[in-house]
Amino acid sequence: MYPEYLINIDKVSKLSEEEKVALKEVTQKYKFRSNEYYLSLVDWEDPEDPIRKIIIPQMGELEEWGSLDSSSEKNYTVQRGFQHKYRDTALLLVNDVCGGFCRFCFRKRLFINPGEEVSRNVEKEIEYIKDHKEITNVLLTGGDPLLLSTKKLKDIITKIREIDHVKIIRIGSKLFSFNPYRIIEDESLLDLIEENSTREKRIYFMMHFNHPKEIQKPSIEAIDKVLKSGAIAVNQTPLVKGINDNSKVLSELFKKLSFYGVPPYYVFQGRPVKGNKPFIVPVEKGFTIFLKSIASISGLAKRPRFVMSHKTGKIEVSSMTKENIIFRYHRAVDEDNYKKFFVYKRNPNAYWYDDYKDLKEIYQF
Ligand code: SF4
Repeated sequence: MYPEYLINIDKVSKLSEEEKVALKEVTQKYKFRSNEYYLSLVDWEDPEDPIRKIIIPQMGELEEWGSLDSSSEKNYTVQRGFQHKYRDTALLLVNDVCGGFCRFCFRKRLFINPGEEVSRNVEKEIEYIKDHKEITNVLLTGGDPLLLSTKKLKDIITKIREIDHVKIIRIGSKLFSFNPYRIIEDESLLDLIEENSTREKRIYFMMHFNHPKEIQKPSIEAIDKVLKSGAIAVNQTPLVKGINDNSKVLSELFKKLSFYGVPPYYVFQGRPVKGNKPFIVPVEKGFTIFLKSIASISGLAKRPRFVMSHKTGKIEVSSMTKENIIFRYHRAVDEDNYKKFFVYKRNPNAYWYDDYKDLKEIYQF
């Protein structure tokens, strides 16, 4: 069963006519996309249903807030659709469409201006990676790379695999949740994984489950198939208001994922991106929810870090006291920052690192 995609909010039969008319205004600004499978997971009787909040637009998106490139990805773009921010990892934006459009997407600029930021022909990028021997990881992202044809994906992966110093190919994908049939029903995709995830050089799937309700039987089957094909899997999710800003929900998500062989990897503070105001949780509130969620789960389930993908690096919220909040760089553009802890006075109204103004101390080891 390969589900049909919907790009017009008018086609969502469970919405009332009034809702469709009102939401049209939102979708003219921030595109809508979903599919029959994913919409079938929504409980339409429940206005707070998390799947609904992930995929169905809401009027609050129109509130003016944030920017379209809140992590300054532009600064790290060396060629169109190709970013090199951290020494050992390069990013290839290979697609500008997803199995659905998460309403809180941090890269929605790709859907607003399709074609502008995607690497269509990876020749130049491959040359760059060949010349930069420090690059050991290449992340295929977008958009969703698994929405490319397997033939196109094979072409890209084969070219990367010819570069000896690239050991890990990461594939960022939410299709395990949006449309697991893309994986289950394509043997040639599984063959491609098997051929290219070897003992020495693995393929990692960076999965994107936001809520335990997304992990349905077809998702579990898709996870199982890629693991059996030799890939490794981890999960990353933002902490999103109304979807998973609840310690019990997050705990359940982490536990389930660990049971199915997908250890949680990152929990992201929502970025200050245009249209995302309804989904943002203050940093300190989010960190508290995160700490509670991992308090009493097994070690394998409690591996994620709570981080902000800031323009200067991945800043982890390390700890909090009554007065202060302590940050450290998990990934840093300026590698000197790895040796430091940044202690700021707490600010319960902060949504982002830049909202912390009162620096108390930089502890250096
Ligand atoms: S899967 Fe990722 S890139 Fe695609 S819409 Fe969701 S957040 Fe954006």
